[in-house]
Amino acid sequence: MALIVQKYGGTSVGTTERIKNVARRIAKWKAQGHDLVIVVSAMSGETNRLIGLAKDIQEYPDARELDVLVSTGEQVTIGLLAMALKEIGVPAKSYCGWQVPVVTDSSHSKARIQSIDDAAMRADLDAGQVVIVAGFQGVDELGSITTLGRGGSDTSAVALAAALKADECQIYTDVDGVYTTDPRVVPEARRLKTITFEEMIEMASLGSKVLQIRSVEFAGKYKVRLRVLSSFEEEGEGTLITFEEDQNMEKAVVAGIAFDRNEARINVKGVPDKPGIAYQILGPIADANIEVDMIIQNVGENGTTDFSFTVPRGEFQRTLGILRDVQTHIGAAKIDADDKVAKISIVGVGMRSHCGIASTMFRTLAEEGINIQLISTSEIKVSVLVDEKYLELGVRVLHKAFGLDQTVEA
Ligand code: ADP
Ligand code: ASP
Ligand code: MG
Repeated sequence: MALIVQKYGGTSVGTTERIKNVARRIAKWKAQGHDLVIVVSAMSGETNRLIGLAKDIQEYPDARELDVLVSTGEQVTIGLLAMALKEIGVPAKSYCGWQVPVVTDSSHSKARIQSIDDAAMRADLDAGQVVIVAGFQGVDELGSITTLGRGGSDTSAVALAAALKADECQIYTDVDGVYTTDPRVVPEARRLKTITFEEMIEMASLGSKVLQIRSVEFAGKYKVRLRVLSSFEEEGEGTLITFEEDQNMEKAVVAGIAFDRNEARINVKGVPDKPGIAYQILGPIADANIEVDMIIQNVGENGTTDFSFTVPRGEFQRTLGILRDVQTHIGAAKIDADDKVAKISIVGVGMRSHCGIASTMFRTLAEEGINIQLISTSEIKVSVLVDEKYLELGVRVLHKAFGLDQTVEA
């Protein structure tokens, strides 16, 4: 008998039929004698629908009220799932984030979990109840409802598993594990039996939305046993996120390929090449709370240089607005910008001990005539920025070039 936290994503609870199906799965686990805490997302499309309503009223919705609104999606599913369980004779009780409570800081729409009170949940579990908790939401110390950022139910689940010292946190979704890349883009992608935390953190931060990055960070910090599985298949071991590299397994150097369409590139040309210029350009952007991702400054020539960086696509216009003032101030010659770009990244802890990985990546893209606009590297990843129209092609050819199409795993 174990204490298991299970999380069911939006597609898995997308209709009342699917909610009934999830209830039947939970009933099976319960019948085996396990204690269960279930985290659910909003029904698929619901969070987007609610954000759309808000934007019909306010172009930039009030942060506090937006959280009040979008958190309702998860409140619907906890109620429905509790009913579905009771309907088949399984005792269950639902909780909104504030009822647990899941206490967060006050950064609306990207709040961080600070503490979770497990007393009420423990009492329910002891009484034989299945506990159902709304994902994605919490409450700050002022009593305001907060949300944890898109995909945040993953983080709710891992945080609950950490607080309850659960034996395992199972993330049920619409694919049966973590793949070498998004299987919707590359049908030849393979499910990984295991992936290390380091790799999963990189994959998540570089755009693989199968797990929200904060959930992986949380699991790493609190040593939560984390597994990704399909909610549509009865059997299957999914993908286990591991702390150690499996020394016995012949591992590919590149574990996976991530990509991100949420990028826009800005190139500030003819900037006077003197100390403080990076700060003068990026300072006002940071002050506006815009996250800068890739950054490149060229070696100067004739007293001027070029400075390039990327920002989230949704912040493109705002960034350009800020830069208009900066350009006059610093005397830059020109701003060249493009929001039809995408980032492709190869990820793998094996890169540490292999050289030539980046050049294989560049050669593979060159052979397809794909131009690289920016590059950034770390010990276990190489990212390139390319024209968005080459994204799928780039991911496919790299997937093949690094041997990910074939069956490498034992
Ligand atoms: P949920 O609603 O269950 O949280 P998400 O849509 O957030 O599901 O995440 C699952 C999706 O992540 C999959 O349908 C898949 O398209 C996408 N995805 C991206 N990269 C990967 C990957 N490397 N492995 C598996 N799925 C991936
Ligand atoms: N419903 C939220 C979203 O769509 C949280 C989640 O699904 O994890 O982002
Ligand atoms: Mg998700």
